[in-house]
Amino acid sequence: MLTVEEALVKLSSLIRPISEHEIVPLHSGSDRVLAKPILAPIDLPPFDCSAMDGYACRSTDVLEDATTKLRVIDTSFAGRPATKRVKKSEAIRIFTGAAMPQGADAVVLQEDVERTDQDIFFRTIAPPGHNVRRRGHDIRKGVDLAPTGAHLNAYQLSWLAASGITQLSVLRKVRISIFSTGDELADPGEKLEFGQIYDSNRVTLRELLRDKPVVLKDLGRLPDDSKAIKRAIIKAQKESDLIITSGGVSVGDADFVRSVIESIGELTFWKLALKPGKPLAVGKIGPTVFFGLPGNPISTIITYLLFVAPAIDLFCGQKFRTPILIKASLITSVRHNPGRREYQRGILTPNDDRLEVVPTGDQSSNRLATFAKANCLIVIPETKGNLEQGELVDVLLIPEQRLHPMTFQNK
Ligand code: AMP
Ligand code: MG
Repeated sequence: MLTVEEALVKLSSLIRPISEHEIVPLHSGSDRVLAKPILAPIDLPPFDCSAMDGYACRSTDVLEDATTKLRVIDTSFAGRPATKRVKKSEAIRIFTGAAMPQGADAVVLQEDVERTDQDIFFRTIAPPGHNVRRRGHDIRKGVDLAPTGAHLNAYQLSWLAASGITQLSVLRKVRISIFSTGDELADPGEKLEFGQIYDSNRVTLRELLRDKPVVLKDLGRLPDDSKAIKRAIIKAQKESDLIITSGGVSVGDADFVRSVIESIGELTFWKLALKPGKPLAVGKIGPTVFFGLPGNPISTIITYLLFVAPAIDLFCGQKFRTPILIKASLITSVRHNPGRREYQRGILTPNDDRLEVVPTGDQSSNRLATFAKANCLIVIPETKGNLEQGELVDVLLIPEQRLHPMTFQNK
């Protein structure tokens, strides 16, 4: 049995990053990977402007130990710059983001100022550049805004938009085909016959793949029939960089996926020291990478998170990211047999200055209920036996939770 890390190394040797590019508008750039670097086309901000609402003045007019009096001669709004120039003992009313008037080099806050009809009085310092955002202080024209390989998100896109970028050269999307296998499966909405269950894995994969740069073909359900599985995979292979199936990779009499892959391609590995997710079949059919995920819904999710998601990143020219593990203290004892690394669904909560974690009940790999309240995975090393209450464990935030700090509510 391979460890998770050994399997990831083998996986990385199978994947050749995509090289084809395409041009997309900026608003379609989320989750895409840049194929060319983007250089800043302008300075940002493009002109000196005020950082606050106040009065633009000449720093040399501001007295150090006495009240400064200045005559207000004009107003500079954001988008409507003042036309006058600030001369000795003069000021211009100014608002955040408005262009600094000619002659002025500092801004006094409106809160610090007494105003009469025409004049302002204040006793505060205003050295050169005070409350002024200098042209180009955020970005200088010509600098690298985003390098080749940048995985674009809302924050980077807003930066690119602020610089006036409208088009992006990105890698084409990864072409992925998914199937479920199993004679027992019915689609939600169909009537369940005795012995049938609903197919949830295709929904899982479709939803998890949503934030990846992929063109997804959901090719439906396959019966436990090796000829049908073979036919479907050969057809899908021609138009896919990656095929993902679920079910049929174990050692049961109705598990045909592995033998099909061995007959039409190469099986690189299929047994992992992992729980849930021991039978994960990974291989290649021609240039297409193949993932046969185990059918149990939790195993499908865990193997997706550990292997499929990073594989898609590799297709996009990304490197493996070292997972960010957090230490938390176990609220209950946890049973675990040494031999396989286990990922248990858990609830992580802050308690004063430390983090506490508790597994979400029975961890059987068919129980999607264990994910319902989970916000993390508790990582139990393969070398460990049972864990004691109070023991520190490694915890991995599940991806959607990573970016939403509000999910951590104080007790
Ligand atoms: P398998 O990996 O085919 O042996 O399936 C293991 C378990 O997962 C069995 O109980 C299957 O009924 C269940 N299962 C397989 N595929 C799915 C699916 N697409 N959705 C929900 N459960 C599944
Ligand atoms: Mg099956």
